[in-house]
Amino acid sequence: MSRQGERSTCGILPVVVDLRAPLTTLPGIGPKRARALAEYGLRSIGDLLWHLPSRYEDRRSVVAPSAVTSPGPHAVRGRVRGLRRRFTRRRGLRLHDGRIEDDGGSLRVVWFNQPYLLTQIAADGEYLLHGEVRKARAGELELVNPSWEPAAGGGPAPGQGDLVPVYPPLPGLGARQIRLLLAALLDTLDLDHAIDETLPQSVLERHRLPPLPRALETLHRPPPGVDPAAFDRGATPAQQRLVYGELVALRARIELARRLLPARKPHRYSFDPALLERLDALAPFALTAAQRRARDEVLADLERPRPMQRLLQGDVGCGKTIVAAMAIAAALESGLQAAFMAPTELLAEQQVDRLRGLLGSRHRVELVTASSRAAVAALGSGEVALAVGTHALLQRGVEFRRLGVAVIDEQHRFGVVQRRQLVAKGALPDLLVMTATPIPRSLALTLYGDLDVSVIDELPPGRGEVRTAVLPRSRRAKVYQALRRRLEEGGQAYVVLPLIEASTEVAAAALEREGDEVRRWLDGVPAAFVHGRLDRGARARAMQAFANGEVRVLIATSVIEVGVDVAAATFMVIESAERFGLAQLHQLRGRIGRGAGESHCVALHGPLGPEAQRRLAAFASTLDGFRIAEADLAERGPGDLDGWRQSGLPRLRAARLDRDLGWLERAQADARAMVGPPPDPEWSRFLALLESDLDEQDARRLTGG
Ligand code: ADP
Ligand code: MG
Repeated sequence: MSRQGERSTCGILPVVVDLRAPLTTLPGIGPKRARALAEYGLRSIGDLLWHLPSRYEDRRSVVAPSAVTSPGPHAVRGRVRGLRRRFTRRRGLRLHDGRIEDDGGSLRVVWFNQPYLLTQIAADGEYLLHGEVRKARAGELELVNPSWEPAAGGGPAPGQGDLVPVYPPLPGLGARQIRLLLAALLDTLDLDHAIDETLPQSVLERHRLPPLPRALETLHRPPPGVDPAAFDRGATPAQQRLVYGELVALRARIELARRLLPARKPHRYSFDPALLERLDALAPFALTAAQRRARDEVLADLERPRPMQRLLQGDVGCGKTIVAAMAIAAALESGLQAAFMAPTELLAEQQVDRLRGLLGSRHRVELVTASSRAAVAALGSGEVALAVGTHALLQRGVEFRRLGVAVIDEQHRFGVVQRRQLVAKGALPDLLVMTATPIPRSLALTLYGDLDVSVIDELPPGRGEVRTAVLPRSRRAKVYQALRRRLEEGGQAYVVLPLIEASTEVAAAALEREGDEVRRWLDGVPAAFVHGRLDRGARARAMQAFANGEVRVLIATSVIEVGVDVAAATFMVIESAERFGLAQLHQLRGRIGRGAGESHCVALHGPLGPEAQRRLAAFASTLDGFRIAEADLAERGPGDLDGWRQSGLPRLRAARLDRDLGWLERAQADARAMVGPPPDPEWSRFLALLESDLDEQDARRLTGG
C-alpha cells in the first residue's frame, strides 16, 4: 500500500490535538516556511486540513512508458531523459520536452509554461508522470503537461497503487510533500475529537451530507472503490458537505450584514394608474417575457421601503436599457432625479440619445462630462431630471437635489468603490446595476452577493444567426477581399483592432497607421475610424455616419466593445483575436446579429499557444453568453476576476462556482430562513458563531453600503 510507504518517509509526528497549533509544530516546517505559508493564509494545523486536493489520480494502473499504445489519461513510471527547454517563436509559450523511458522503449513528454522544470527534475531520474496522452502531428504519441513526482521512496510500484490526492502546491511545498504531511497528520489526529460539526444535524440529514470530520477524512484519504471522476464532478457527499458549509456561511454573512444596516429610503414613488400607463407606453416594441419579468421585479423593489440593490443581468443585446429606462421614468414622473453611468464616453453618448428619445419630451436629460458646467449646475438645482455620463458623474461638484434611481450600465467595468461613490450622490437611492459580462449566475450570486439578481435570458424576436470563423492571419487577404465584395453589395462591417487606447501622441499615430492599413485593404469603401482619443465631435460624426449607412465600415479599437447598437452592421473582423479575453470577444461579437439577416464574425489570429487555442475554439463553438462565461471562469478561475478581491469576500476553498450552482441556491434559501426575521431556532448555534465574527465594517463591505 502506498500509504505505508508515505508514512515511513515522514518519520514520527508529535501527537497533535489542537487544530490551532501553529504549523511549526509539524516536522519539516521551520519558521521560514511557516512565514511563507502564513502569507498564503495558512497559519495553523487546522488551516492545512482545509488545503484540499484539487483532483485525484488513479494510480491503480501505473504502466511502463513502452506499454502506452493509445491516447487518453495515463500514469507512467520511468526515467526522464533528454529534457530540454525549447524556444519557440510563439509568444508567451515556454516549452520543455524530453522522453520518459523504460527498458522496453520510451514516450515523448511535453510540458508548457513550467519555467523552472530543468532545475526541478533530475536528469535520468526515475519519475511517476500522470497526464493526458495525445497523438502529436507525426502520429507519435506524447504525454502532455503531466504532473510529476520522483518515483523513488514511497511512490506506488507499477501495477499497485491507489486513488492519490493531488494538492495545489504551496510556497516551498510540492504536491508530494503536502500529501506526505497530510497523511502523517491524519495518522496522528483524531478528527472526530479535533473537529466540531457546526451545521445542525437536521440540516445535514435534509441535504444528505456527512459530518465534517468524515468529509475531511474522505477528501484527504479517499476510501477504496471511489470513482475519481465523481470527485471531478464535485459529486461526492464529502465535497458537497464542504461546499454547502462554505456557501451557507457566506450567504448568511450577507443576510446578517443587510440586517445591521439602516434600510428606509427617504423617497417615495407615486405608482398611480397614470404612471403605469406611461411606463407601458414607453417601449416602442413589445417587451419579451423575460424583460417583463425583470421590469416587474424592479418596480416592486422601488415600492419597498428598503433601497433597491439589484443586478440586471442579460446577454449582449437582450434589451436591458429599456428596463432601466422604466425605472428611471418611474423616478422622474415621481418628481425624483436619476443618474445613468456608463463606462465609456462613446457609450454614454449613445445612451443619452436613446434615453432622451424615450424620456426627453417630458423631462430634461443631459450628458455630464468633465467640462459640462451648465448641465452640472442645472442638475444641482433640480432642472435636469436625468444625468447620463461616465465616471465624470462621480466628480466632486456633481450634485443631485433628490436622486431617486441610480443606474450603472456595464457594471463589470466599474469597481465596487465607484458603485459606492455613485450611491453616495443621494440619500439611499435605488440602485440598478446592469451587466452582460456575462457573469455566470453562480458567480453573480456570490460576487454581487449583496444584490438581488434579475436575469433576462431571452433575446428579442427576429434576430438573425451569427456565424463565427476562426482563421490564421495568413488568410487575411482573402478575408478582406471577401469583405470588400460584401460591403460593395451594401453590407456594413466593424473591423476591430486589438490596440489598447493610445495615451500618447506617438501611440495615437501608430493607431492611425493600423487603421490606414485596413483602409487600404478595403480601398474604395467609405470607412471611418473610431478610438478613444478622438474628440467627441469627430467620434459622434463617425458614429452618426455609420448609423445612417454613409460609412460602410467602422474601424475601431475595443471602444465599441460595449453598447454600440447598429442593427444594419452584419460583418465583423477581429484582428489578432488571440489578444482578447473570451468574455471580451463575446461582447465584441454582440455588436452584430442585431438585425434580421445572417451575420458573420471572423476572428483572425497569429500563432497560438494552447490556452489561446482553447479560448478561440470556445468562442467559435457557442453564441451563448452564459456558456462563454462558464468557459471563461473555468479558464481563469474566479480569483482572477477583478471584482473578487475588491468584493471583500473570503476565498472559497471547496466551492467551485462554475460547478456548484445548485448548492449555492440551496445555501441561499437556507441562509434567508436562518437569519429571518424571525431567525430559525434550528440554526441558533451556527448564527451565534457567525455573529460573533462579523463587525460593522464587514457589514458595510458586504452590502456595498
Ligand atoms: P443590452 O441588453 O445589450 O443593453 P439594448 O438594451 O441595447 O441591449 O438593446 C439592444 C437592441 O434591442 C436595441 O436596439 C433595442 O432597441 C432592441 N430591443 C430591446 N428590447 C426589444 C424588444 N423586446 N423587441 C425588439 N427590440 C428590442
Ligand atoms: Mg447595454
